[in-house]
Amino acid sequence: MQYISTRGAAPALDFEATMLTGLARDGGLYVPAEIPVLTPAEIAALAGISYEDAAFRIMRPFIGETFTDDEFRALIAAAYAGFGHPARAPLKQLAPGHFLLELFHGPTLAFKDFAMQLIGQLFQAALKRSGQRVTIVGATSGDTGSAAIEAFRGLDNVDVFILFPYGRVSEVQRRQMTTPAEPNVHAIAIDGDFDTCQALVKDMFNDFAFRDRVRLAGVNSINWARVLAQVVYYFTAAVALGAPHRPVAFTVPTGNFGDIFAGSIAAAMGLPIAHLVIATNQNDILHRCLGTGVYQTEAVLPSISPSMDIQVSSNFERALHRAYGGDGRAVGQLMDELKASGRFAVSQGALEGLRELYASGRVSEDETSATIARTLRETGELLCPHSAVGVKVAEAHLGAAPMVTLATAHPAKFPDAVEAAADLRPALPPRMADLFERPERMTRLPDDRAALQALIFDRIGMEASA
Ligand SMILES: *Cc1c(COP(=O)(O)O)cnc(C)c1O
Repeated sequence: MQYISTRGAAPALDFEATMLTGLARDGGLYVPAEIPVLTPAEIAALAGISYEDAAFRIMRPFIGETFTDDEFRALIAAAYAGFGHPARAPLKQLAPGHFLLELFHGPTLAFKDFAMQLIGQLFQAALKRSGQRVTIVGATSGDTGSAAIEAFRGLDNVDVFILFPYGRVSEVQRRQMTTPAEPNVHAIAIDGDFDTCQALVKDMFNDFAFRDRVRLAGVNSINWARVLAQVVYYFTAAVALGAPHRPVAFTVPTGNFGDIFAGSIAAAMGLPIAHLVIATNQNDILHRCLGTGVYQTEAVLPSISPSMDIQVSSNFERALHRAYGGDGRAVGQLMDELKASGRFAVSQGALEGLRELYASGRVSEDETSATIARTLRETGELLCPHSAVGVKVAEAHLGAAPMVTLATAHPAKFPDAVEAAADLRPALPPRMADLFERPERMTRLPDDRAALQALIFDRIGMEASA
């Protein structure tokens, strides 16, 4: 299996190199050169098997020769062993025809554990074999960083540096990043906002000398292996509700478009998906783009669903690549325009293609809080604010196909917003009840790339060269 860049001007890579590289050198994102298709019989055979067995069958065609079948099975088993639910991604019914897919039973209580726990294992296995060491650097508004630290803590051959905006993540998120004691974990609080952190990371990736010297690797949501891991639960949920014999719809709380893009891969693999509904908070660039065909960035508005407070939705580039029929030059031009002017217009043909698969909706802050309160009252289910955005949008898109809303985080990860909305403070699951007693460890830095690079050299035991 070969992977190509969405901008068509970087070398094609195999699965292992794609996973270890992250961003392509032409600035694009890696996508499979072709998508393997499962037959209806193969999809039907996923019914009733374990999450791990389904994950193996769905992901196996994408990994080529990188791992043997036995190795890959063992890595999948290790990835999901720490989840707090035997089904891994259980489905709950909210209303007639409306289901909630609980993706928050992983070690950091957000759906990002599905991908991050797996790529921790995949990195470890690939690096052990080659004897290489890598430095992972990532920026986070909270959930990605905690999931990455949890996945890579204590692994050989990997140092993990996570940049988060000082004072702007929830206390649970911060403690999940600052309490792991392993020496390969480095939580860095940056004076600035999420965009400051993300810009620092991008600059380091574009400093090719630094990138090569410390063997920089990325695990942010543009890493293909993360998208791939997220394809699995679309299959397990749809099959539980009658696929491939009937189509199923999904609503996905969306920020960087990684989670919902995985749904489009499931559809391309043959899963009958009626539509994928993009649910946004007041940061609604994707909803506006689908409506008007113009992708126009605006200032980020902080919300009670902070993991979706994003204006440039990185993985949308992959959807554009599909909508433009794989034309890397056209995608590259759009991205150049975005960089130059903060906007671009999608061609009519591509827009029609996007609208065939995707629908969208936007939810205000008040509607989000009201949905948390009402869902608790009607169903007994306590939603996190991101999941509430999804439920509210899904309710406007119920139709003949069963609707599955992705519950992307546990309510206890955002206790203040949930308590303000529902007058009930969600408790952490018992296995992490001592989070507030564990000692914290972090480094605070200004928005200064040179200082950050010096710190990285120091921590990984390398001399900073001139
Ligand atoms: C990351 C995140 C999202 C957004 O997912 P994308 O893949 O970036 O679209 C939604 N909800 C929660 C809780 C998250 O952590």
